[in-house]
Amino acid sequence: MEQEEKSLNFIEQIVEKDLAEGVNDGRIQTRFPPEPNGYLHIGHVKAICLDFGIAEKYNGVCNLRFDDTNPAKEDTEYVETIERDIAWLGFKWGQIYYASDYFQQLYDLAIMFIKEGKAYVDEQTAEQIAEQKGTPTEPGVASPYRDRPIEENLRLFEAMQRGEIEEGKMVLRAKIDMANPNMHFRDPIMYRIITSHPHHRTGRKWNVYPMYDFAHGQSDYFEGVTHSICTLEFEVHRPLYDYFIDQFSGANFCGLSPYGPDYRPKQREFNRLNITYTVMSKRKMLQLVKEGLVAGWDDPRMPTVCGLRRRGYTPSSIRTFMDRIGYTKVEGMIDQGLLEHTIREDLKETAPRVCAIFDPVKLIITNYEGEGETLTAENIDGIEALGTREVRFGRELWIERGDFLEEADNKFYRLSPGGREVRLKNSYIIQATGCEKDAAGNITTVYATYDPNSKSGTEGGNRKTKATINWVECNSALDAEVRLYDRLFAVENPSAEEGDFRDLLNPDSLKVVTAKVEGALRSELHAPILENGIPRENHYQLLKQGYFVVDQDTNAEKLVLNRTCSLKDNYLK
Ligand code: ATP
Ligand code: MG
Repeated sequence: MEQEEKSLNFIEQIVEKDLAEGVNDGRIQTRFPPEPNGYLHIGHVKAICLDFGIAEKYNGVCNLRFDDTNPAKEDTEYVETIERDIAWLGFKWGQIYYASDYFQQLYDLAIMFIKEGKAYVDEQTAEQIAEQKGTPTEPGVASPYRDRPIEENLRLFEAMQRGEIEEGKMVLRAKIDMANPNMHFRDPIMYRIITSHPHHRTGRKWNVYPMYDFAHGQSDYFEGVTHSICTLEFEVHRPLYDYFIDQFSGANFCGLSPYGPDYRPKQREFNRLNITYTVMSKRKMLQLVKEGLVAGWDDPRMPTVCGLRRRGYTPSSIRTFMDRIGYTKVEGMIDQGLLEHTIREDLKETAPRVCAIFDPVKLIITNYEGEGETLTAENIDGIEALGTREVRFGRELWIERGDFLEEADNKFYRLSPGGREVRLKNSYIIQATGCEKDAAGNITTVYATYDPNSKSGTEGGNRKTKATINWVECNSALDAEVRLYDRLFAVENPSAEEGDFRDLLNPDSLKVVTAKVEGALRSELHAPILENGIPRENHYQLLKQGYFVVDQDTNAEKLVLNRTCSLKDNYLK
């Protein structure tokens, strides 16, 4: 509902204008173009929500295209996880394409450029080429190879592809304009040699690989993309994107598209997502994984899609977050608190409540007789539709150490000998009578008496107390390994700091405790149940502690819970 009332974002405005003007006969086609060189992160999800969202909203199609033009960094492992993560987010692609499917067409185009005198083979080093680029206000210096005869360029480029030239010794450059104020026009590199790594799909077939600028627009064109949406750093590449396509469309049309001479894909740029207390670069994430600074790509502290999933984020909360931050032309930094706020709001309505005691001390109710009893508690207080659960009660309970004080003043509302009455959540009212300590003076047992006529849900249950405390019955309780995750970095913007980003990791980003949790969680003691290869996540609110998700390390003997977020919302609206 919130979504429908929102005004159109600027990309939607562009699309609606195109539709109104009948551009591309009303066809809407987008693509999401990941490079399979790492796992998807939440920044990618922003692009995914826009690419797929536009197609969904305007009855178009969004294809998945793997931008696999650099065999040195890419792998099928990444292809698989990218597909799995997009499916988990709830998006459906039309086709799956690979830039590597176009290697032959791109090579043929390069040959055409050479024959038309629009490209040349340069034998200078990468450093020399960079030095000659000039600055935006100063023209660059032409390569000594710039005016090489067409025949020679052809011969050398073919030798490059046959694997006869060593990696790094030659590149193919577009011959455009070394004085152009747009630096990307100063004879950009079209092709480079990579012989050191086989390609994950084409093996050793190719020894030359197209650069981004010579592959991306062409791929869009071959597929019939209408709106090629990307992040703002590509805005300066846009004229080059158009230039390359102009060479084989319009008046130069040579049949490479079924949509005719007038068809053009249009690149449009939006602001990338940056979030506080994390990094959003595959390169840095890979470093954290490889050096063991996190447990893997799916470590719950990572901003990857699989990390967020394991942390307990739901697809709907992530998509709601993207709706809230919106799409603009201005770069900025989003408070991680907003992301946490969004999942908290989601789980508030859906996560059943259970009790867990993190720092347990035993409580004995001295006047309670018998084997114990089964009480009923609402899964979420006040939401009847979510049902109830059974809770065991008995003579011996675990309570939080901090809920008892041997000597307390009258501002302490919880348990203290001779102090006030306290309600046990969903249960009876008790009053502390004393405690027992070990030789070191640590309290080992707290004693109390209960009022049999004060049970919640009965008439006596309406009696008010100043405090309600949590408890777990000892015989039915089970131990859980609870992983308390916090922000991965200690500083707001690790990428803006001098020095090594790894020195800025938050040393307290993970604490592990063993908690006593109520018997209801016994139902979670089994190996993860997979849905499309992904463990199904069950979420809980541990009363007073926060929101937690059952981790995939759980098995028949051991329960592992990850903290998704605390209960306290620090996000200022
Ligand atoms: P990284 O810099 O982390 O390696 P990348 O941009 O190289 O990321 P790609 O796989 O090329 O990763 O990105 C696929 C798509 O996702 C691109 O269209 C890119 O613009 C978009 N994208 C990547 N990072 C972000 C981000 N932080 N916010 C929004 N979109 C992003
Ligand atoms: Mg990229």
